Amino acid sequence: MNDLSFDLIVLGGGHAGVEAAWIAHQFESLRVAIVTIPEVPLASAPCNPAVGGVGKGQVVRELDALGGLMGKLADESGIQFRTLNESKGYAVQSTRIQIDKNLYSSRAEYYIESSNISVIRKRVEKVSKTGDRFQLIADDSTVISCSKLIVTTGTFLAGQMHTGEEVTIGGRVECRSSQGLDSLFDGVSKLKKRFKTGTPARLTRQSIDFSQMDEQPSDPGTISFHFGHDVDYRQAKQVSCYLTRTNDETLAIIRENKERSPIFNGQIQGVGPRYCPSIEDKAYRYEDRNIHHVFVEPEGLDIDTFYPNGISTSLPKEVQLDFIRTIKGLEQAEIAVYGYAVEYDVVDTLYLNKTMEYTDIPGLYFAGQVCGTSGYEEAAGQGYIAGVNAALSYLGRDSLILDRDESYIGVMIDDLTANDRDEPYRLFTARAENRLQLREDNTVLRMAKYRSRLSLENSVDYYNSNFIEAYNNLIDIIDETFFKESEKNINLLSELGFGGIKNKVSIAEILQRSQNNPIETLRVLLNITGIKIEERVLRAAAISVKYRGYIQRSDADFQKWMKLKNKPLSWNELLQNKNISFECKQRIEKVKPENFGQLQKIKGIRPATLAFVAGNI
Ligand SMILES: Cc1cc2nc3c(=O)[nH]c(=O)nc-3n(C[C@H](O)[C@H](O)[C@H](O)COP(=O)(O)OP(=O)(O)OC[C@H]3O[C@@H](n4cnc5c(N)ncnc54)[C@H](O)[C@@H]3O)c2cc1C
Repeated sequence: MNDLSFDLIVLGGGHAGVEAAWIAHQFESLRVAIVTIPEVPLASAPCNPAVGGVGKGQVVRELDALGGLMGKLADESGIQFRTLNESKGYAVQSTRIQIDKNLYSSRAEYYIESSNISVIRKRVEKVSKTGDRFQLIADDSTVISCSKLIVTTGTFLAGQMHTGEEVTIGGRVECRSSQGLDSLFDGVSKLKKRFKTGTPARLTRQSIDFSQMDEQPSDPGTISFHFGHDVDYRQAKQVSCYLTRTNDETLAIIRENKERSPIFNGQIQGVGPRYCPSIEDKAYRYEDRNIHHVFVEPEGLDIDTFYPNGISTSLPKEVQLDFIRTIKGLEQAEIAVYGYAVEYDVVDTLYLNKTMEYTDIPGLYFAGQVCGTSGYEEAAGQGYIAGVNAALSYLGRDSLILDRDESYIGVMIDDLTANDRDEPYRLFTARAENRLQLREDNTVLRMAKYRSRLSLENSVDYYNSNFIEAYNNLIDIIDETFFKESEKNINLLSELGFGGIKNKVSIAEILQRSQNNPIETLRVLLNITGIKIEERVLRAAAISVKYRGYIQRSDADFQKWMKLKNKPLSWNELLQNKNISFECKQRIEKVKPENFGQLQKIKGIRPATLAFVAGNI
């Protein structure tokens, strides 16, 4: 390794780091490097081995349409594909892929190693800035320098792990932590906060009785993430996940041991994720609920352990074993790795701008879990924004800001940089005001203009522009193709169950009839007319036309919402309303807002609650 001077360095090779480097290297003139701890593989998954999920699947598709890597990696290592919320509206349906976590990492290693990104496997101990260049000093005293630095160090900064009374220094299991935020960096002390997250025990395959659980096979109908893959692309062998549940006995053991839980006895100071709670959180917060889902998920095809999703814990080892063995199918469970919680330093994102750049130190960007978020997809989304903007800034070009009206990544960056947060941030659909627009099927329509602004012109851009052209043509066909009232047409539509004809009826009107599934209906009607359309385009058009009226109304509601700030409201009535979440009611009761503007300012009130109230006062 001779020249250790780069234009742009990404510190950390996790999900945020890989995505940041991947987009930055697409600007071919840039010299890009990832500097990362030697014993941690690229894009490794220390928690649940899955990519996507509600709100997060949308982020993965947004990244894919923007030229990101995550969708490709997930498809190529996917061992179970599912569409979540399939029985609900398309706006809240999301793709989730169970991954083989070793394969996922090795695909990331492959893509990064085959690109012109340099990977320097060293642990960085100190970062400083002299003039307009950053110097990174590794633990073997190597000095590496760059103009733009993106920090994506995950849970490693001053990481401290807890299992019952046992406290160890580390960023994740079997990995040393890194320096704390303010010892690693000069001049960032006002940035620091402290959060925590946790993970469940890993169970050995042969100790689980799967016959006692509900099997969840891979769904052949789930559309793969990456635009370049066939819609039913499956590279790895497909396997099942399993569902079981906690019970009275499980929760009784957890409650009996409250004093030994580091989260509740004061041993852990950091604040944990509300939306990815530990089983202790669930037990102590919801005293009247003892049944909680536990999804038992494979960590990989050749990996002997399963991940029991839903029972993340930092209780002492013997308590973990006791409560796990009360769960159906896990009576003989053997633990390969015990659950733990990790506390770590995070930056206060109020000091970052929408490009993820720290306002006090130009050229220094942060992304991922170090920004107080939780989740691989959230990390990857921020990594992309930091990476693309660091590259654009280096090249003296305008920055790329995604609008919150048009993307979940935009919603997240806006939330992170505009709100004072006291807990880890996770994306879900209720964070978006106009979620009817932020669907998976129309991602290319939302993202293509942002991607084309980069003027990189590769296969992503060709796919995006072909998609948009095909989509617009199809919308014209849907609106302008009519079935006239003839005996033949009346019989045909009636046999298909698509309804009758009075005078004439367009494909659009048929799709909008309540009994008709838009995708299936459009597929059949296009077959009849002999038109062949790519499945992804067909879905986007079918759903957009079916819900055109709702989408227009939702846009109008959004505009109305902007005007409603001074309208009085009764906070007492809001507490009785079943459309408002328990969490929001807690916050409303505390502040007692008297008008919409006050409600809006309450920390943590969900945009969906605001949109609902706006539509009803
Ligand atoms: C115990 C645990 C539990 C979790 N639980 C959940 C959960 O319940 N739900 C959820 O959605 N997510 C969870 N996660 C979070 C998930 O792992 C992260 O959101 C995701 O990995 C964050 O990606 P990242 O790129 O920000 O950081 P990471 O994936 O952690 O990557 C950080 C990278 O920084 C590198 N690095 C750190 N310090 C240095 C240094 N000094 N020098 C060089 N390189 C350095 C590391 O090598 C690593 O490559 C959990 C993580 C852990 C560890």
